[in-house]
Amino acid sequence: MEDCIFCKIINKELPSEIIYENDKIIVFKDVNPKAEIHLLIVPKKHIENINVITDEDKGLLSEMLIVAKKIAIDLKINLDTQGYKLIFNVGRGAGQTINHIHLHLLSGFSNQSLSEI
Ligand code: AMP
Ligand code: ZN
Repeated sequence: MEDCIFCKIINKELPSEIIYENDKIIVFKDVNPKAEIHLLIVPKKHIENINVITDEDKGLLSEMLIVAKKIAIDLKINLDTQGYKLIFNVGRGAGQTINHIHLHLLSGFSNQSLSEI
């Protein structure tokens, strides 16, 4: 997709702080972090959002969750006491600003209201 920022990051046409990458998924730091740890788990396939996923995407979506868990462990997030959030914003009204599906991984909240969403 020509004008997609995340496709450009995937194609290394735009810089990003990459934390993890395999043939299907890339993970990089959110440029405007809302928590101490704020990463974006992004499939390399351009899918607009959850509304347009199909059975064909089942494997990819579950891999996103497995990558999220591995990263939480790699980052030594205490899985019991600290924990983390995984969030899909779906549609503009819910805060989706980039039309390339991505899973937010957030952990470490200085703002209590964010930790209670
Ligand atoms: P959403 O609001 O769910 O669409 O999330 C998009 C996220 O992408 C926001 O949290 C932005 O801060 C983040 N973002 C936008 N541009 C970049 C970029 N070039 N590199 C890293 N993160 C970005
Ligand atoms: Zn894209």
